Amino acid sequence: NQSTVWGNVDQYITERLHQQDKVLDQVLQTNQKEGLPAFDVSPTQGKFLNILVQIQGAKRILEIGTLGGYSTIWMARALPPEGKLVTLELDPHHAKVARDNLTLANVQDMVELRVGDALEQLGQMKDEGVEPFDFIFIDADKPNNPSYLKWALQFSRRGTIIIGDNVIRDGEVVNDNNQDARVKGVREFYDLLAEEPRITATAIQTVGSKGYDGFVIGVVVC
Ligand code: SAM
Repeated sequence: NQSTVWGNVDQYITERLHQQDKVLDQVLQTNQKEGLPAFDVSPTQGKFLNILVQIQGAKRILEIGTLGGYSTIWMARALPPEGKLVTLELDPHHAKVARDNLTLANVQDMVELRVGDALEQLGQMKDEGVEPFDFIFIDADKPNNPSYLKWALQFSRRGTIIIGDNVIRDGEVVNDNNQDARVKGVREFYDLLAEEPRITATAIQTVGSKGYDGFVIGVVVC
């Protein structure tokens, strides 16, 4: 079956192109043991994010949706020593597990984990006068994707990269009868991107150990 092939190919890729990584293996084991949903990005997607951060030369990253910090660690590792990553998480248990994982990965000093509803956190960050980010990864509750995109633009400068995860959803994104709030949120996300002159974007479909999905990638142009 297709998904087995996709999983096997992901394994082939990681065995050949990824270093053995006891920390990240441990993080995934801890997340499972602590009952976190397995919604983290796959190893190849994590490394892809890491490489994108390097290409961008990003010094400041915003992540919306931490879970256990798996993607956070991949991205933080690509930052220079003075770099900073702000990550937002609603669930206190996810946040606690993430904090321990970030410490295990020794990136705790460059990561600010803010616990609470992301929309509230983003509002507070605006009041605090937080500086723009170079790289923004949107990966929280999909119904709020349109609002997260508006906030991402608020915290962007010309050249900021914005990534949105899970924007294909087994192809359900083209099913306009699908009433799932996540699918509807993603479709509104596309609509907003389409009419937003401040960003130019596309979406890449992906298959792998996490099934058939994909991500939006955009760059802020003004
Ligand atoms: N980026 C993570 C990774 O790849 O390792 C996965 C994030 S997971 C897909 C989504 C996370 O967003 C969950 O931990 C969930 O608790 C969190 N979340 C859901 N609604 C939220 C909200 N309103 N504000 C902040 N975080 C939220």
